[in-house]
Amino acid sequence: MQGTISVRNLVKTFVSKDETVTALDNVSLTTPPNRILTLLGPSGCGKTTLLRCIAGLESPDSGEILIGEEPVWSKTKDISLPPERRGLGMVFQSYAIWPHMTVFGNVAYPLQMRKVPKPEIEKQVKKILSLVQLDGYENRPATNLSGGQQQRVALARALVGEPKVILFDEPLSNLDAKLRESTRKELRHFLTELAISAIYVTHDQVEALTISDDIAVMRKGVIVERGTPQDIYLRSDDPFVVDFIGRANFLEAKIKSYQSEELCVVTSSLGDVVCNAPAGLEAGTSVTIYTRPESFTVVPADSGLTENVFEAKVNSVLFAGEAHEVEFGIGNATVLAKIEFDIPLQRGDRVRLHIEPEWCRVLNPKRGASRA
Ligand code: ADP
Ligand code: MG
Repeated sequence: MQGTISVRNLVKTFVSKDETVTALDNVSLTTPPNRILTLLGPSGCGKTTLLRCIAGLESPDSGEILIGEEPVWSKTKDISLPPERRGLGMVFQSYAIWPHMTVFGNVAYPLQMRKVPKPEIEKQVKKILSLVQLDGYENRPATNLSGGQQQRVALARALVGEPKVILFDEPLSNLDAKLRESTRKELRHFLTELAISAIYVTHDQVEALTISDDIAVMRKGVIVERGTPQDIYLRSDDPFVVDFIGRANFLEAKIKSYQSEELCVVTSSLGDVVCNAPAGLEAGTSVTIYTRPESFTVVPADSGLTENVFEAKVNSVLFAGEAHEVEFGIGNATVLAKIEFDIPLQRGDRVRLHIEPEWCRVLNPKRGASRA
């Protein structure tokens, strides 16, 4: 089980003169091998602390951390391996490359520290630089590179020691939007190609959705949800997760009846809506339902669809790059929907909107009291 990190019941508090902050509140987590797991959550929720505990840069209060089968930190077993013996690679926000060294010097450094023979160092550095598409840059001073290239040097340095797992803490946040997007794609490509396990920390929802195989959403020192990007974006029933990740239309509703274990009919300002729902909510229970803007489709009058088809009026149309963002009025409610360009819509138009029950969900009233 190389490449798997298990965190069990990890607690970390920071105590200062006037306050105690619980940065990690009983966190348990196992990373999938050879995949990218992202820790996603708002600033201050404990992502960096968790990463630093795994790396050995921070000492937890209690719990256990294993890499593969080997405990690297355990309170009860009194184990605490220093960072250099955990076999992890790290890439941080500030590239932390050494400005006075060449690209070669930066990437070779971890191998020189381990007293790897010189010809072997040259071979490995060459291989890694070619992988991150920096062939021929060996003798450049590291500072003489663009932000994206510097980040690739940092990645090469983290990879050269053949780490079991590589840890990233907001590695792209110093790059501008366009470069961030292309570097993110590159990074996903490299990591997938190498089949290396990675833990990736970000507060950026889009970044998390596009780079990850798996996402753990954190809030106030707790992991509140774990799943694939699709699960997290489209299938969560946690009020905090749904609100934090992307945009959603929230509507107040009341449970009417269940069609099956998971599908129920609710009454709302849209009329009756068939939604996914947590099992066992009683008829009459007040709930909140949500839909994502991407989930609506415009359907013709003779579509034959009987459920979840709404008469809608176009209130406004906004050009938004890859699609139109359209605000529709449906009865007393308004919903935001992303509609393909090839459907010409103008303010005042009347259309039929459809949403699959699969993409319409009842938030679980038992989870997270507030959406904030
Ligand atoms: P994130 O990376 O998700 O933004 P952090 O892990 O950096 O969050 O911080 C989690 C909480 O722990 C925050 O409330 C932060 O202020 C606190 N914290 C982190 N490091 C320290 C420290 N060295 N001393 C005191 N408080 C800290
Ligand atoms: Mg952080």
